[in-house]
Amino acid sequence: MKQLKALNKYFWKYRNRLGVGVVFVFLSNYLGVLSPQVTGFVIDFVQNKLDLPGYKAPERTPEYDVLVQKFIDSVQGISSTGRVVALCGITILILALIRGFFLFLMRQTIIVMSRHIEYDQKNEIYGHYQKLDTAFYKQNSTGDLMNRITEDVSRVRMFTGPAIMYLANLVAIISLSVFFMLKRDAELTMYVLAPLPILAITIYFVNNTINRKSEKIQEALSNLTTNAQESYSGIRVIKSFVQEKAMLGFFTNNSEAYKKNAIGLAKVEAVYFPSITLLIGISTLLTIMIGGLYYINGGHNIGINTIVEFVMYINMLTFPVSAIGLTASMIQRAAASQKRINEFLKTEPAIKNNPGSSVIKLKGNIAFDNVGFTYPHNGIEALKKFNLSIKSGEKVAIIGKTGSGKSTLGQLLLRMYDVTEGEIKLDGKNIQELDLSRLREQISYVPQDIFLFSETVSNNIGFGLDTAIFDNVKLAAKQASVEREIEGFSNQYDTMVGERGVTLSGGQKQRISIARALIKDPNLVIFDDCLSAVDARTEQEIINSLNQYLEAKTAIIITHRIFSLFNFDKIIVLEDGAIIEQGTHVELLGRNGHYAKLFARQQEQDMKQGN
Ligand code: ADP
Ligand code: MG
Repeated sequence: MKQLKALNKYFWKYRNRLGVGVVFVFLSNYLGVLSPQVTGFVIDFVQNKLDLPGYKAPERTPEYDVLVQKFIDSVQGISSTGRVVALCGITILILALIRGFFLFLMRQTIIVMSRHIEYDQKNEIYGHYQKLDTAFYKQNSTGDLMNRITEDVSRVRMFTGPAIMYLANLVAIISLSVFFMLKRDAELTMYVLAPLPILAITIYFVNNTINRKSEKIQEALSNLTTNAQESYSGIRVIKSFVQEKAMLGFFTNNSEAYKKNAIGLAKVEAVYFPSITLLIGISTLLTIMIGGLYYINGGHNIGINTIVEFVMYINMLTFPVSAIGLTASMIQRAAASQKRINEFLKTEPAIKNNPGSSVIKLKGNIAFDNVGFTYPHNGIEALKKFNLSIKSGEKVAIIGKTGSGKSTLGQLLLRMYDVTEGEIKLDGKNIQELDLSRLREQISYVPQDIFLFSETVSNNIGFGLDTAIFDNVKLAAKQASVEREIEGFSNQYDTMVGERGVTLSGGQKQRISIARALIKDPNLVIFDDCLSAVDARTEQEIINSLNQYLEAKTAIIITHRIFSLFNFDKIIVLEDGAIIEQGTHVELLGRNGHYAKLFARQQEQDMKQGN
């Protein structure tokens, strides 16, 4: 339960709404308990006036609420019985109308407050997610992250909204009705209320069962959706491997599991409502029976009017009392959800701005000093005693087999991770002393695994800028050699990318991603194997335009192919996280080692493909 304390700041923020809401709850319940009293009065009045058989006038007149008493006093003088009855009827109707209005206001304050809290909480979680580092995202599944921001938040809202409203309602109705009931007849009150705790406990347990079953259904449904979604997106693979039947079988199994759970839930629910009705019925029965006995035997000073009043009170109490069970399980679930949310909110980003971090304009001098790096969650040592210094304006190629640690270098320069050994210096300053956002803003990075947003082409290219000028978008597209293709799309730069937009080839995606990096125009550029899906002629075109673009910039170009036409100042050959060869193209060829062999093989392949 202490987990829910995290919500106190929100309750404080919306304290006015909450306070006013609670007042409305009390007002509506107060008006609610007036109508049984008016009804009790009119029954007694009619019996008395018409002198019905079996009527015994109460020895002492019952005590009514102040307002009801005022009403009674004002109708006492009226001689026509019919008119008094009509007046009572109208009063009850008016009471109900005003009560309804207050109920409306109660929802408008408390439920609206819970929606505000939900909104704030979602933003808080999303904001926190954005601060967390890449390692966090590797360790937590997207589904889990999504669940906390949707499912868990909505469960917490069941507490901040309905549960709080039910609780306030419960306290109000119990205190008001029990107060008036006790005043009338304490003994009868005890008998009549006895079944209600049983009702509350039963509902609590049944409700927990229902929740457990619904969770299973939710899980089954999520399996089903994932299953269906994968079959749609993987339809080409399924068809080409003729696996439609197998997939259908798989889907049927999932569907079956879902059906079984849903039917189980329907069974519990089918028992739920009749048993509630039964318990309420027992309360009503007890009222009539015991009240009737009191009336017949005398001595309790109650009339038929009291019995009717009590039956009305019981009816009013049933929903709030049955809501105890509901509320208890809502609170329980909210606490569990809030616990999960708190865990995330407590997670500190491993990579953050260190105190006193400095904001500098990078010139592009880079030094790796005995850098060692091990991935935190799987213990893979990706770099070992890595030393490299790059001067401002130099162009460096990093070549090596898959898994040799090339991409890791880029990740470290962007400070997606912190080095485990040694240090990285930028313009002579340790990278950890630099302002994180400013650092990333000043590096143009094309990742190996390209990601485009479901947005227009031009928004994808201008992504890193606050406002991208269209001419610059066009220029970047031209430099990345994708201009012609974009202009061939039906909506050109406004064409949507992604599931509902054009289907781009791997090479087109890579080049849009390159354009996105180029438009930022910073001094340091890192390209991670971003020409792998581009054909040789386009590759040539891009390299030509890059040659100009990179003129005054520092560039690290990670690749598994050798770009012999690009004039690199330094070529690094990486293997198992360490440098095995370095030099210029000519030097490395002269050495006749790994690089020379790689180059020979590549040329052979190019010849075969007729490039
Ligand atoms: P390259 O880019 O040269 O193919 P990487 O730098 O991606 O090599 O990978 C170096 C090693 O680190 C590999 O063994 C790889 O499995 C591992 N690795 C890469 N990225 C991650 C990651 N995000 N988490 C854990 N291990 C990783
Ligand atoms: Mg890589």
